[in-house]
Amino acid sequence: MTDFSKVEKNLKDRGFEVKVFSTGAEAAEYIDGLIDGVTVGIGGSSTVTDIGLFEKLESHNTVFWHWKQDADTARKAAMNADVYLTSANALAETGEMINIDGVGNRISATLFGHKKVYYIIGKNKLAATYEDAVWRARNVAAPQRAIQLKRNTPCTVKGDKCYDCKSPERICRGMTTIFGPMMGMAAEVILIDEELGL
Ligand code: SF4
Repeated sequence: MTDFSKVEKNLKDRGFEVKVFSTGAEAAEYIDGLIDGVTVGIGGSSTVTDIGLFEKLESHNTVFWHWKQDADTARKAAMNADVYLTSANALAETGEMINIDGVGNRISATLFGHKKVYYIIGKNKLAATYEDAVWRARNVAAPQRAIQLKRNTPCTVKGDKCYDCKSPERICRGMTTIFGPMMGMAAEVILIDEELGL
C-alpha cells in the first residue's frame, strides 16, 4: 500500500477533503454514492475512464462529458454543472495539484462555477515536491496525452520529454496550480492506490 499519509495531511491542511481507496472500483462506488440527482461535468480524464465512473453516474444524474457527447456542447454545459470531476496531471506531496490543458475547459472548471470539484488521482501522479509535480505534468503527462491524441509534435516522436514546442498541434496551452479549494467551491481529493490515467 502506498503511504499517502504525508500528502493526505498536507491536502487537509490546505482545506481539501480527502479520501483514500485501495482500488479504483472502490473509489467509483464511493463517488457514485455521493453524487445523485444533480448535473455533473467531467473534464478530459483517462482516470475517469479507467474507473468506469461515467457509466455509473449517468444512470442517476445528468452528466456532461465531451469524450462521450458532442464535444463543444458538452464542454459548455459542463462549465455550469453542480459538480465537476477531473484528475490532475500531477499532485505534489506538499499538496499542490497541477493541470495542463489545450482547450481550457478543464482548468477553467477547476477554478469557478460549481458547488464542488472532485479530483480523482492515482498513485502514479504523486511527486515529491511542487517542482517535481510541474516537471511530471509537463514531461510525463503532456507527452503521453499528445501521443494518445496522435499529435504532430516533437514529444510524440520519442515520448521522453516536453520540447516546449511551438507546433500548431501543441496541446499544452495553459497550466494551473491549485493551492487550495477556490473560495466558495468545495473540493475533495480522492487518492487511489492504483496507477490510473496519464
Ligand atoms: S509543449 Fe509541445 S512538446 Fe511539450 S508536451 Fe506539449 S505538445 Fe509536447
